[in-house]
Amino acid sequence: MSPAAPIPVPQTTTRPIRPTSPPQPSAPQRLPRPRCVPQCAATTPRRDARRAGTASCPACTAESAPRVPHLRWLLGLFARPDPIDTAQWRRVRASLPWIERLDPDRDDRLRALTAGFLHGKTITPVDGLVLDPDQRCMLAALCCLPLLEFGAEGLHGWSQLIVYPDAFRVQRDHVDAAGVLHIEDDELSGEAWDAGPLILSWADVCADIDDPESGCCVAVHEMAHKLDMLDGAIDGTPPLPRDWQRAWARDFQSAYDAFVTQMEAGLETAIDPYAAEATDEFFAVCSEYHFSAPQLLREHMPAIAAHLQRFYGESPFDRAVV
Ligand SMILES: [Zn+2]
Repeated sequence: MSPAAPIPVPQTTTRPIRPTSPPQPSAPQRLPRPRCVPQCAATTPRRDARRAGTASCPACTAESAPRVPHLRWLLGLFARPDPIDTAQWRRVRASLPWIERLDPDRDDRLRALTAGFLHGKTITPVDGLVLDPDQRCMLAALCCLPLLEFGAEGLHGWSQLIVYPDAFRVQRDHVDAAGVLHIEDDELSGEAWDAGPLILSWADVCADIDDPESGCCVAVHEMAHKLDMLDGAIDGTPPLPRDWQRAWARDFQSAYDAFVTQMEAGLETAIDPYAAEATDEFFAVCSEYHFSAPQLLREHMPAIAAHLQRFYGESPFDRAVV
C-alpha cells in the first residue's frame, strides 16, 4: 500500500471493499467502503478497508487543464492510433475475464477503443510501480469496457491515468454545518477527477481480475464517474437522450431512495452499502455489478439493471465464454 497522498483535497466518490469470501448469488458480503468527501472528485475506497474513487476539483487536480479540451487530446484527433498487435490483444483478452467473454463484434470495438486510449492518454505508474506494455494495455481495455456502446466520446476531457501500486491515502477536509473543520484520511483504490486524471490502485485492479464476479471492478467504477461528469453534473446521470435521461433519473432516484431507506432500517442489502453514499456512487456501484454480478443486480434492482444493460450493452457475465 502506498502511504503517499497523491493529490490534496478534491471531490470524491468511492468504491466498496472486496468480499472476503466468494460472492453469494443473493447477498454478497462486502466490507464497508472507506468514506470519501464529495467536492470535485469521485473515489473508490480500498478493499480491506477500501473502496474509493474520486471526481475532482479543477483547482487542485494533478492535471492543470480545466474544462477545456487538452492540447494532446486535440492533436490526437488528427492522428490515427496504432492498432494493437494481434498477439498482444490475444494475451490481454486471455488475462481479462470480462473481455474474454465479448462477442467478436464487441471485441473488435473494444480493441479499437483501447488503441485510442493508449494513443490519447498517458499512463503514469507512480511510487515505484513498473507496468509492462501488456499491463498498460490491460488497464486501457478495462477503462474502455464501459464505453462499448457509449463510444470514444466517453474518454473526453482528461488525459492521464495514474496508477499506484496499491491503495493510496488522501487527506480531505470539510466544514460542517456548525462551522467545524473536519480533516479525514481516506484509503482509496481509485479516484476520478473532474477534468483531471483517473487514478487506480494496481493491486485492486488485480484483485478484481482474480475475482471477476465479486461485484467489484474499480476501473468500471471510476469510468462510470467519468461518464457521469461529462454533462458537468456529478449526479449519477450520464449524458443521455432527453426522454431516456428523464426515465433514468426517475428510476435511479427511486431505487436509491429505497436503498437508503433499507440501509437506515438496518436491513441487509443485496449490493454494497457504499452505494448509499450518494446518487453518483449508487450509479458507479451498480455499474460494477452490471459487469461483475449482473444476475444479482437484475434480481434486486430490475429497473436499474435494464437501464445499465441499455447503456453498457450486455454484461460479459451474461454470456458464456466462447
Ligand atoms: Zn465512487
